[in-house]
Amino acid sequence: MKNIENYNFKGKRALVRVDFNVPLDDNFNITDDTRIRAALPTINRIIDGGGIPILMSHLGRPKDAYDEKFSLKHIVPHLVELLDRKVTFAPDCIGPETEKLVREMHPGDVLLLENLRFHAEEKKGDEAFAARLAKLADVYVNDAFGTAHRAHASTTIVAKFFPEDKMFGYLIENELKHMDKVLNDPEHPFTAIMGGAKVSDKILIIENLLERVDNLIIGGGMVYTFIKARGGKIGNSLVEEDKLNLAIELLDIANKKNVKVYLPVDNVVADAFSNDANTRITPVDQVPDGWMGLDIGPETIKTLREVIMNSKTILWNGPMGVFEMDKFAGGTKQVALAVADATTAGAFSLVGGGDSVAAVNKYNLKDKMGFVSTGGGAMMEYMEGKELPGIKAIRE
Ligand code: AMP
Repeated sequence: MKNIENYNFKGKRALVRVDFNVPLDDNFNITDDTRIRAALPTINRIIDGGGIPILMSHLGRPKDAYDEKFSLKHIVPHLVELLDRKVTFAPDCIGPETEKLVREMHPGDVLLLENLRFHAEEKKGDEAFAARLAKLADVYVNDAFGTAHRAHASTTIVAKFFPEDKMFGYLIENELKHMDKVLNDPEHPFTAIMGGAKVSDKILIIENLLERVDNLIIGGGMVYTFIKARGGKIGNSLVEEDKLNLAIELLDIANKKNVKVYLPVDNVVADAFSNDANTRITPVDQVPDGWMGLDIGPETIKTLREVIMNSKTILWNGPMGVFEMDKFAGGTKQVALAVADATTAGAFSLVGGGDSVAAVNKYNLKDKMGFVSTGGGAMMEYMEGKELPGIKAIRE
């Protein structure tokens, strides 16, 4: 199968879907360039192979029309700096002017197309629009993992115009390699750590993981739906009343599949949702009236550390508490440190989902994790066992 590593790019124009959807401040300075840097290996591979990268991306949420605020022209100076070469900017992603610019490109040149989402057809997955994009190039490379779960023109539909010449870039290849390893070939014991606010967001991923893991650690706000379902007192803690039965069902399935579930035994409770609140440690099923559980407690942390240190594969998604407030960040920090230590000791760890990645970055532990996923929603859907349209379009 053709791939980014073995493909002969010599003299070829390569249409590359990248994710340059970076945060900009009011003066259009890039405040976090992680996503641009993540695309560099693929872009450089094409250039070094004698090809011409034609880069396309979305930026922000324009309303289906040109809006200077969301123009990708703001990215050009930084891209020039990172690539250390000239970048030509096409003021539209399709059309005669863009086609002319493409014809004038030579190996070593780089072209960046204007924001795809200035055309409503992009998100609609319009085939005629995809055909106009496809017309620009000889080969299609998808390296935008963050949008791989969307059947948009540039992420999915365009692939059909390159039946013999389509492939993933390094970023997506890497994401898939690590997720597939965890899903299909994990070393045991395999521990999943699920946190975050709501059970309802994590049902599908928990169901899929119960088929595969040895241990399931549950933390964060979703804990209290389980605790209430089991008859505990949760005070004002977050709860999804309509998911109480489901919580019991999930625990039953885990039991039948011999998955050991670790719910917290103690927690940090507060009399307000605030960093200035009064706090106490209580058993997790004895939250006083008027108080709410906002982090896991010290006994729980001790147990979790042991479970994590004894694991060979670890998947972590979602914080253990309201880690944005220092008073309730301890559980998330200690779990992050345990995952880092287990990884140093030889386990493989995969961290994904917006907030756990934010936590890993907050504690400067990114380099100590096995792999930190760049795609929040896409990663979640893949781990739920769904076939992502952008992945399927290349694989089929
Ligand atoms: P999610 O996006 O589902 O991963 O949820 C992340 C959010 O859950 C974070 O903003 C946390 O502050 C929040 N969270 C974690 N633990 C709790 C808790 N015990 N009560 C309320 N919110 C929580």
